[in-house]
Amino acid sequence: MNVLVLNCGSSSLKFAVIDPGEQRELVSGIAQRLGTPAATIDVKRDGGRSPRAVGGAAHAEALRAIVDELSREGLTRNLGGVGHRVVHGGSRFSASTAITPEVIAKIEECIPLGPLHNPPNLVGIRIARELFPGLSQVAVFDTAFHQTMLPVAYTYPVPHEWEEKFGVRRYGFHGTSHRYVARRALAEAGLPADDHALVTAHLGNGCSCAAVRNGRSVDTTMGLTPLEGLMMGTRSGSVDPAIIGHVAGARRGAPEAVLEDLNKKSGLLGVSGLSNDMRTIEEAAAAGHPRARLAFDLFCSILAKSIASLVVPLGRLDALVFTGGIGENSTAVRERTVSHLGFLGLVLDPDANAAHGRGRHGRITTGERPQALVVATNEELLIALDTAEIVGGNGR
Ligand code: ADP
Repeated sequence: MNVLVLNCGSSSLKFAVIDPGEQRELVSGIAQRLGTPAATIDVKRDGGRSPRAVGGAAHAEALRAIVDELSREGLTRNLGGVGHRVVHGGSRFSASTAITPEVIAKIEECIPLGPLHNPPNLVGIRIARELFPGLSQVAVFDTAFHQTMLPVAYTYPVPHEWEEKFGVRRYGFHGTSHRYVARRALAEAGLPADDHALVTAHLGNGCSCAAVRNGRSVDTTMGLTPLEGLMMGTRSGSVDPAIIGHVAGARRGAPEAVLEDLNKKSGLLGVSGLSNDMRTIEEAAAAGHPRARLAFDLFCSILAKSIASLVVPLGRLDALVFTGGIGENSTAVRERTVSHLGFLGLVLDPDANAAHGRGRHGRITTGERPQALVVATNEELLIALDTAEIVGGNGR
């Protein structure tokens, strides 16, 4: 049985067909700039790409075209289910769930918490239900893994009634990635499933860390929204919230515009003035660009301080896991971060650090405990595995 995995964003749609039994991806790709004249569908097969223009296509049309293409190649024949990435499940979902009309209604109720993400996620669910009426659909939530956090981790020190009235609490994101790499890291680091203390650092365009004790998330750096916590590609991460009123007042503008800048024009991009892309930052810093250097230094400093703070709820640290585009590929970020954390007993093995990258995982420090390691994330695979487990193998 294969699973179609869908991740619908506001103007993009990522897809993959995965054989969960063999843990093998048969095909994957992305439709981008949907709803604009520049819309494309880019299917990746056997390492190659074949982008084609589908000018003006919106999500429904693009997904139909993708499914047509996949079925011509026989890739939809053995589908047992469709797994959807859903960003915000609020406090309503603590695990992946078979999609029913009631579940759709609950995801809709979470729209105020995830106004940018949940609506396109729901579009993907609706279209897939139309295209595959007989097939089970499963929602896999970014927030679900962190629902094990206790009140002392998820409560903001704000007026108590805000939580009940407005849902103001910390939810955390990237849960699928944190759950996947935490599981993989146990085998890699030789740690027991019932007694371990990990910090997982998912460093992509969005960045977050999680504290994982015995398979459960006990704390994480993102909060009500993905804006909190680490410095990211374009997001500031945690800042003094008074900045919003201060800048809005000084610009005689709306606070929403400042919030938009904290989400889209800050982080690596804002500090460097160059780019949100860590490769560009590293190259410019190496060439002596002062603000690129500052952006790199700040990114690693905030990351290391956040990792250290997560050792408090864990009580100890057995392993620090790097993942995501930056975590898997940037030897420089890993080197600097581990060096900041030397006081925890982490000592970098420079050869091992240089040797690890995407597709190659393992330990990058010299000692047994604590150790730092690289584990490649695979959120699509975990969505496929959850979907297969929930549909029970027959997909109906
Ligand atoms: P997303 O969160 O969109 O899935 P990725 O996980 O692919 O993003 O991560 C993208 C980030 O990874 C970018 O900042 C990119 O610069 C960084 N990255 C990818 N390869 C390297 C590399 N070799 N060295 C440094 N950074 C890298």
